Amino acid sequence: MKQLNVDVAVIGGGTAGLGAYRAAKLTTPNVVMIEGGSYGTTCARVGCMPSKLLIAAADAVHQIERAPGFGVHPAGKTIVNGREVMARVKRERDRFVGFVLEGVGSIPTADKIQGYARFIDDNTLQVDQHTRIVAQRIVIATGSRPSWPAQWNQLGDRLIVNDDVFNWDDLPRSVAVFGPGVIGLELGQALHRLGVKTSVFGIGGAVGPLTDSAVREYAAKTLGEEFTLDPDVKVDIMQREGEKVFIRYQDRHCQTQEIVVDYVLAATGRRPNVDNLGLENTSLALDAKGVPQADRLTMQTSVPHIFIAGDASNQLPLLHEASDQARIAGQNAGSYPEVNPGLRRSALSVVFSDPQIAMVGSTFRELSQKFSACGCFEVGEVSFENQGRSRVMLRNKGILHVYGEQGTGRFLGAEMIGPDVEHIAHLLAWAHQQQMTINQMLDMPFYHPVIEEGLRTALRDLQAKLKLGEAEAERCQHCPGE
Ligand SMILES: Cc1cc2nc3c(=O)[nH]c(=O)nc-3n(C[C@H](O)[C@H](O)[C@H](O)COP(=O)(O)OP(=O)(O)OC[C@H]3O[C@@H](n4cnc5c(N)ncnc54)[C@H](O)[C@@H]3O)c2cc1C
Repeated sequence: MKQLNVDVAVIGGGTAGLGAYRAAKLTTPNVVMIEGGSYGTTCARVGCMPSKLLIAAADAVHQIERAPGFGVHPAGKTIVNGREVMARVKRERDRFVGFVLEGVGSIPTADKIQGYARFIDDNTLQVDQHTRIVAQRIVIATGSRPSWPAQWNQLGDRLIVNDDVFNWDDLPRSVAVFGPGVIGLELGQALHRLGVKTSVFGIGGAVGPLTDSAVREYAAKTLGEEFTLDPDVKVDIMQREGEKVFIRYQDRHCQTQEIVVDYVLAATGRRPNVDNLGLENTSLALDAKGVPQADRLTMQTSVPHIFIAGDASNQLPLLHEASDQARIAGQNAGSYPEVNPGLRRSALSVVFSDPQIAMVGSTFRELSQKFSACGCFEVGEVSFENQGRSRVMLRNKGILHVYGEQGTGRFLGAEMIGPDVEHIAHLLAWAHQQQMTINQMLDMPFYHPVIEEGLRTALRDLQAKLKLGEAEAERCQHCPGE
């Protein structure tokens, strides 16, 4: 077996692994990156990019379907050529993957080790059966993978995950999507718009990442008007019948329903790839899910020379978070024993459904837990149904809740569904990170007529409800929380 001694070993060659490798390399020459699967990153190969390409095709169909609302009637029947749709998705996807591979290609061959790494002890890794690495510092950047109930495995090749969708050469006729989270909603709605008979199911009523019940119910209703979306079903039978899957379930009104589909798409969550790392051979402190505990500002685990980044950390499984964590973990692994806190930004997440769903800053659930005992936060609201620009564009569906702190008037967070709210969410995330107050945000310019005027309405609503002043701020500072 080959033996290596290195300063830093990075496990995983995805977004976080590449970022950590590059950051560590700035201060330490002797760095290796170990990749067990294919280079190209989850984001480019089977995540962010191909999903947005599929959604873009679905949007094109939807634009045509919406046209009669403006008095514009496209001639003839709209034909969705599934082969052409999937060919473009894969062609453009491969282009994005190509850029990542170019970057990987520029890394010296000696720094890249192919194979799956496992811990032998706190400093030693074994890669497959061919290499043993003694590393002074280690960054875990092993990403995550889809997870689903084990009993679904009896569906064989009728059970698919997001990776399989982006390998299709053609669109199927029907799909049942389980899990109305980010991935389930995005893929479910896109497939529906592309003419695939699609049903999206969940358990317990969750819709995307939303925690504010008013926004969540609005989202469930609005999306449910377009395609079958039942976020609270009980499945009685799900079994393979030939090349199909038969499903009998009770819908949220306790009515028994039956469907037969080509595929069941499991979008029931992702689990960090830390279970096959041999963590039991280390002295790492793990959380209840078996994930190494880490300081979010330094990405340092309980073993001072081991760092973690990206989806593996189970903090916020998003691309920009993976990049930030990687930079912090890589820099600290490179400069260890000097360890510095890095920049963690305000929370921002977007679901590319239509209308889009977005979350900024603290969630409604977090604020309720923190402030429930003293009523120290208020909610400002706007509906996009009568919002000028949204109506002009015939996209007047949505609701936005902004949260502000009593006393200080500080902007705390927001949850929303609405037309292109990715943009409003960015404005709000910037305001949140700048710790702006609602009054300061209302001092900012708003053009006319724009969807952001809806945001101003919500902020004014919140401003009117907030009680400002030192006494109130003092009271809220001592709110005990849950
Ligand atoms: C369908 C879908 C859509 C998404 N859309 C968005 C979006 O719109 N916006 C957004 O911000 N995020 C999105 N995400 C999330 C985003 O893709 C992830 O947060 C990001 O890719 C995580 O990067 P990572 O480096 O942690 O993991 P990866 O890129 O998965 O890298 C981990 C690497 O580690 C390797 N590995 C695992 N175990 C070992 C081992 N033991 N030894 C060696 N190598 C190992 C794997 O092979 C893999 O290459 C989406 C995800 C999915 C699935």
